[in-house]
Amino acid sequence: MRKKQFKAESKKLLDMMINSIYTHKEIFLRELISNASDALDKLYFKSLTDDSVSLSRSDFKIHIDIDKENRTLVISDNGIGMTAEELEKNLGTIAKSGSLNFKKENSDDKNADDISVIGQFGVGFYSSFMVADCVEVVSKAYGDDTANKWQSNGADGYTIEECEKDEAGTVITLHIKPDDENEQYSQYLEDYTIDELVKKYSDYIRYPITMEMSHQVPDPEKEGEYITEIAEETLNSMVPLWRKSKGEIKPEEYNEFYKQKFMDYSDPMHVIHTKTEGQATFDALLYIPENPPYDFYSKEYEKGLQLYSNGVMIMDKCADLLPDYFSFVKGLVDSADLSLNISREMLQHDHQLKIIAKAIDKKIKNELKKMLTNDREKYEKFFKTFGLQLKYGVYANYGMEKDALKDLIMFPSTNDDKLTTLKEYVGRMADSQDTIYYACGENAEKISLLPQMEAVRAKGYEVLYFTDEVDEFAIQMLMEYDGKHFANICKDDLDLSTDAEKEAIEKKNEASKDLLDKMKDALDGKVTAVKLSDKLGSHPVCLSAEGYVSLEMEKVLNSMPGANQGVKAQLVLEVNAEHPIVEKLKNADDEQLKKYTNLLYSSARLIAGLDLENPTQFSDSIVDLM
Ligand code: ADP
Repeated sequence: MRKKQFKAESKKLLDMMINSIYTHKEIFLRELISNASDALDKLYFKSLTDDSVSLSRSDFKIHIDIDKENRTLVISDNGIGMTAEELEKNLGTIAKSGSLNFKKENSDDKNADDISVIGQFGVGFYSSFMVADCVEVVSKAYGDDTANKWQSNGADGYTIEECEKDEAGTVITLHIKPDDENEQYSQYLEDYTIDELVKKYSDYIRYPITMEMSHQVPDPEKEGEYITEIAEETLNSMVPLWRKSKGEIKPEEYNEFYKQKFMDYSDPMHVIHTKTEGQATFDALLYIPENPPYDFYSKEYEKGLQLYSNGVMIMDKCADLLPDYFSFVKGLVDSADLSLNISREMLQHDHQLKIIAKAIDKKIKNELKKMLTNDREKYEKFFKTFGLQLKYGVYANYGMEKDALKDLIMFPSTNDDKLTTLKEYVGRMADSQDTIYYACGENAEKISLLPQMEAVRAKGYEVLYFTDEVDEFAIQMLMEYDGKHFANICKDDLDLSTDAEKEAIEKKNEASKDLLDKMKDALDGKVTAVKLSDKLGSHPVCLSAEGYVSLEMEKVLNSMPGANQGVKAQLVLEVNAEHPIVEKLKNADDEQLKKYTNLLYSSARLIAGLDLENPTQFSDSIVDLM
């Protein structure tokens, strides 16, 4: 029989398991039990949908056997089993090939690496090598005639050979390592340890996990003496966590369940457990993760909740249960109202499912509102992690959800260094202020340096910092909040002045009309107007936009894939009427005026965070002046 080598990635992971310093080696058991339970699920599901399988629910079980003398721990199931090819494919190559890459990118401490990979991904079957120096897997696929034995001591590959086995299913034998100074491996050969571990990690598994347990009982023959009685027991309660009543469940149980089921190594930030009766009857257990899932920002990320029909999983990721703005939510829904045999296609049109999805959406929104009111710090943390999603939600689908989401979004502002809601902003507005002001830019610091900020600040108005691309689009969709309109302080029509002030600047513009027209001509169509402004404080120039499209929106729209650079903001060059530069311009000859105007325009572009059309020319002009 030829020894086969593990694929490179698998070998790395395996080495990590064998030499692991991970302190929770005990998790190997829950990994093996969870695999066994999946295998039972698969066969059970087949029995429900395929008449040729004549097995009933009560036939399925997971059995654990301990042989202290030979130091073996055996976990068997009568599930779907594996063919020789499947043994090769599933146990010879690591399924979660992404996990090692993830590890490399995210940490440089070698030991921390191992621990986070093991904790984060569970790493499944290979975790058995943390406690065993040799592992045998005997398996027979349902409907197959032959059984096969896969065997490995980790380091130097594995073998597969045909063998005997009556029933379909899988038997995994772990040869437990000898004790060493760091680890009492023998504990995994004690029935009470195994019993404890099953109760701790696998209690809700819906199939009985049985084992022979020994108990000391009074000897019926000799009073005062005890004998050892051995009896097979079911170790788990088999009640899924979400079916238990909330009062019965400890926070650690919710967290453990989450980490195990949804492959995260941090506890969730928030747990929502709800039992709903009415139009639709269902239990839902939902989690908001502490951090975005590692592939959250990749195309591969699929949103969705696990879907169960009366305790039987019918779909792993039901996308229709979650709106996009809650795509980060993990969890499951169990409802007796759904048919087991429902196909993916039919499910999309299922009336019951739609009602459930709606109820879940509402529930999450309410929970977030509660968090915002009752635990501000937690909400801000949540918002920093997932808030972008909510802002997209305001904008998406033509603003269909904007009213439901508008009180959940937050922005940084000039008020303080915390985030503010729109409601809070409006609450702080003075009676004389009727507009919500905002400014866009890369970050709060850069925005606060914009020339336009000075005048708004002078009036004592608070300004929201829009630093996410979606912000302005979301606000445009919202149109107003509590009857207050929004205004971009970098828009040409920003109205901060009294009537008298307006009249004064109007007059100045008229008086300088010739000069301003010449300047506009000098810019050769790059701006729609050049104006004198009274909003610039001590700064000489700025660019503002006229009409619907702001500078930020132009940037965003043109950076989108497939954009044809067609969207242009209509620019207005504003020159500070009070700045000495105006005198200089007035006294310049035509040639100089052209040069100065172009310089002012270029610097205004830089201030607005826009590229220069011709940086070389800009630099040449400056050097010229010097
Ligand atoms: P995961 O369970 O996350 O896919 P594992 O490494 O634990 O990763 O297992 C790899 C694959 O081996 C499983 O996806 C499954 O197809 C198969 N497998 C493991 N244990 C069993 C079992 N007891 N019965 C049938 N198939 C199994």
